[in-house]
Amino acid sequence: MDELPGGIRRVTTPLPTRPGHVHSYLLPGDDGWTLVDTGIGLPDARERWSAELSQLDGPVARIVVTHFHPDHVGAAADLAELTGAPVHQGGLDYAQCELVWGNPNWPHRIAEWFERHGAPEHVTAKLVEQGGLYRPFIRYQLDPVIVEPGDVVSGWQLIAAPGHADGQLVLHRGGVLVAADHILDPISPTVGLWPASRPDPLGDYLGALERTIELGPVLALPGHGDPIEDPVGRARALIEHHQARLAVAEAALTTEPQTGYALSYAMFGDELKPAGRRFAVAETLSHLERLVREGGAMRGGADGVVTYTRAS
Ligand SMILES: [Zn+2]
Repeated sequence: MDELPGGIRRVTTPLPTRPGHVHSYLLPGDDGWTLVDTGIGLPDARERWSAELSQLDGPVARIVVTHFHPDHVGAAADLAELTGAPVHQGGLDYAQCELVWGNPNWPHRIAEWFERHGAPEHVTAKLVEQGGLYRPFIRYQLDPVIVEPGDVVSGWQLIAAPGHADGQLVLHRGGVLVAADHILDPISPTVGLWPASRPDPLGDYLGALERTIELGPVLALPGHGDPIEDPVGRARALIEHHQARLAVAEAALTTEPQTGYALSYAMFGDELKPAGRRFAVAETLSHLERLVREGGAMRGGADGVVTYTRAS
């Protein structure tokens, strides 16, 4: 457990895949600690957390889950049991959490979706398999306390930070942003189009980054990596990064229809393993859909397959 400015504590737990670790934060408050995010529910999660919690001088009053990805929501039910504290999760995020992790039909839905975006059948099978790897390690809390952007939790304001996940919430108080995967440094948060996600996640993300710049936090505590001492500068850099990636996507378009799967090779190269390709396709699609809205690409398709062409 690390001590951070303002009495905040940080607990880092390991991940079996990149980026290899995830941070949870403990925010001090009058009625106890507010724990933000839970790590993934690996078999030793409970043991690991018991040891961490025994170092605290007071109770955990509540748990806040920023978004439903395995490394943030995975041990939520374990922690609720260990602490007796209620889990708070955004309304939209909890709906997506149930849709993905509480739904035996989801892998089938993902398979259909990759096929619609041009992945060959044998590749689709691998991509779906990859997405199921984390399933056994996700123990989200059923029927959490539903919270919404604008709500204040123990003095921290909840702010919508869509893009990486549609319903992601971050917490802000006195210039400190508990940023989840909204801004990371040096890695760039994945921003992908997935089945049942909002239609323009990259547009949502760029808007959220602009709002972060306006908010002007002086310190961001991210879900992965070191504290970010210039969150506004980092938000600007992430906007530039995506502008450059949009230009790469646009340059790959021709008058010949191409699928998101095919275009992911132009955007991310051909060296990726299935886990990487999965995110590459989703991220390529978020850029293509942004380009469609900006007038740089046209979406078309036939026989249930979606394709993109250059707009002019
Ligand atoms: Zn994460």
